[in-house]
Amino acid sequence: MRLHFINRLILFSLFVTGSCSLLAQSTVYLKPARVFDGEKIFENYGVLIKNNKIENVGLQTTIEKDLDKDTRLIDLKNCTLLPGLIEGHTHLFLHPYNETPWDDQVLKESRSYRTARAVTHAEKTLKAGFTTARDLGTEGAEFDDVGLKRAINENIIPGPRLLIATKALVATGSYAPKGFASEITLPQGAEEADGHDDLIKKVRNQIGKGADLIKIYADYRWGLRGEAAPTFTVDEIKLIVATARSAGRPTVAHASTPEGMRRAIEAGVETIEHGDNGTPEIWKLMEEKNVYLCPTLAAGDAILQYRGWKKGIEPDPERVKQKKQTFKEILKSGVKICMGGDVGVFAHGDNAREMEMMVEYGMQPLDVLKSATSINADAFHIEKQVGRIKPGLLADILVVEGNPAQNIQAIRNIKLVMKDGKIIE
Ligand SMILES: [Zn+2]
Repeated sequence: MRLHFINRLILFSLFVTGSCSLLAQSTVYLKPARVFDGEKIFENYGVLIKNNKIENVGLQTTIEKDLDKDTRLIDLKNCTLLPGLIEGHTHLFLHPYNETPWDDQVLKESRSYRTARAVTHAEKTLKAGFTTARDLGTEGAEFDDVGLKRAINENIIPGPRLLIATKALVATGSYAPKGFASEITLPQGAEEADGHDDLIKKVRNQIGKGADLIKIYADYRWGLRGEAAPTFTVDEIKLIVATARSAGRPTVAHASTPEGMRRAIEAGVETIEHGDNGTPEIWKLMEEKNVYLCPTLAAGDAILQYRGWKKGIEPDPERVKQKKQTFKEILKSGVKICMGGDVGVFAHGDNAREMEMMVEYGMQPLDVLKSATSINADAFHIEKQVGRIKPGLLADILVVEGNPAQNIQAIRNIKLVMKDGKIIE
């Protein structure tokens, strides 16, 4: 008891005597060539950071007028300052399928092994400039994303702020691993659930364990000929959405068939993941209902290369031609586009690959930057914390050399990553 009291006294005096210098230390002025605030580019702007928040953004000449003499100045010539990027679709518990096929990751890798990998994946994601990430399912690693997120939040390991889905929900029989002897029951890459009581219970259980959102598979490759086909009924999805929503959680859906997408949109999901075979009618429905699309271009591209396609040497396979065509239609449609690559299919830390591909498929670099910052923040309901350079928001910041609004590849020339006001070393 007594020791505890003394400790408290020491802490208190440290706080009082040290507070002046501590406060002075925590004001940082970042002086790049330009600022992308999440929506537009501003030349000769600077950003003032106080503790873990953005204090001011504006013309350098204006900010510099009232700079405190203790403010730390970081000169960032030829650089662009942006909000810390937001990865919209990652799986920190997966690693590239050309290293280990998905089935083997789920069935042959222990949870401790997968967690050890996830820890390094989180660090790589952060160091690539992605200060926030939406993890859309542990793919068989149970609720291990809950502990991973906690360890990041408690600064035990470096990583992005996480929005987690935990196990994700699938209709019984629809998901994978599959194709094994029918008498063998194998663990699945997501949680099976069906019908009224079961769905309510499993949604609530995932929320209780720590899910920030509910992820469902609205279709999967279980059609009569192995093609993708819808899974849950509209009523089932409506029930999932209502149960999640009453606890303040959004529902998002993996969907690539028009019918799977239609059911999910009709039932009230907030983002559609992949959307490969969407039609003009579906885009219209999404626009009307303000549902965002996360096209995950890089995942499909990576899988085709794993199967032997020599990109850049051989002509585009049918699937790539189609995805390019669909993406052009979406760009014209007015559907809001998230940036999310389905990372894990390809390497963590290589998240920018999706941004490069969005440009390759016809999107303007500035629009890609918006998707990866303000649009993702709006879509994931975190716009009051991150996604823009705006006074009062958290100081999650990326500085790169060059101008990614002109050349998207500049997003890889990382000069500085700041999360919560702290520079990531
Ligand atoms: Zn995914």
